[in-house]
Amino acid sequence: MATRQKAAGSPGAFILLGPPGAGKGTQAKELARRCGIPQIATGDILREAVRRETPLGLEAKAVMARGELVSDDMVCAIVEQRIKQEDCKNGFILDGFPRTMAQAERLDQILTAAGWGRPKVIYLAVGMEERMRRLAGRRGCKVCGRIYNIYDRPPRLEGRCDDDGSELTRRHDDSREAVVRARFEAYEKETAPLVRYYRRSGKVHRVDGKLSLEQVTREVLKLCRAYDHMQSKGRA
Ligand code: AMP
Repeated sequence: MATRQKAAGSPGAFILLGPPGAGKGTQAKELARRCGIPQIATGDILREAVRRETPLGLEAKAVMARGELVSDDMVCAIVEQRIKQEDCKNGFILDGFPRTMAQAERLDQILTAAGWGRPKVIYLAVGMEERMRRLAGRRGCKVCGRIYNIYDRPPRLEGRCDDDGSELTRRHDDSREAVVRARFEAYEKETAPLVRYYRRSGKVHRVDGKLSLEQVTREVLKLCRAYDHMQSKGRA
């Protein structure tokens, strides 16, 4: 595999951890815009594959509809390919990956082999009630993917994207209570232990995800600068 060294001062690899509804997607988009690096959201990539009925999408569709996790091999292959692309040369933001211990271990190997070193790990902490409310209010633009929340960040015109006027839709897996519950359960069982895993090998920045979008972004960027400083001193 071709290796890349993170150029001095480039943002590098980020991981956004947090349960469904914590705001990872919204935050990842904002960070991506500010840092000039792409957001890599495995959920978005899989939903697009389902929509286009690719072999990957056909395999993932039923599992996603139940709110369960697709296979580690499938998502690891997606991420491994994606981060080799040219737009990732200064870094990338992983949103919704890794989600299991096996994915985290595989990611470590991928990042080390590609010369990325330790990722910056950010954990967005948000309580259950607020997450439920966010999932209930979440709407996304069918065309550009911009995320709205009908309670906190509604579009100017109901049901339409501010940027391109396209229809806003609700995710299938947000609208069925049993599926939302399955996603929360998968998070608690498979993904929550990753916070401890990353703590063992370095620092996990815990950010209060209940703050406003702008405050969370500011907090994350501030922490990341501190993180770079620690890394340069060999303490992260
Ligand atoms: P998300 O958009 O991150 O909420 O992901 C939506 C769905 O895609 C999840 O409920 C899973 O079925 C699947 N998915 C996304 N990322 C992963 C992953 N890293 N591992 C396993 N399944 C995933």
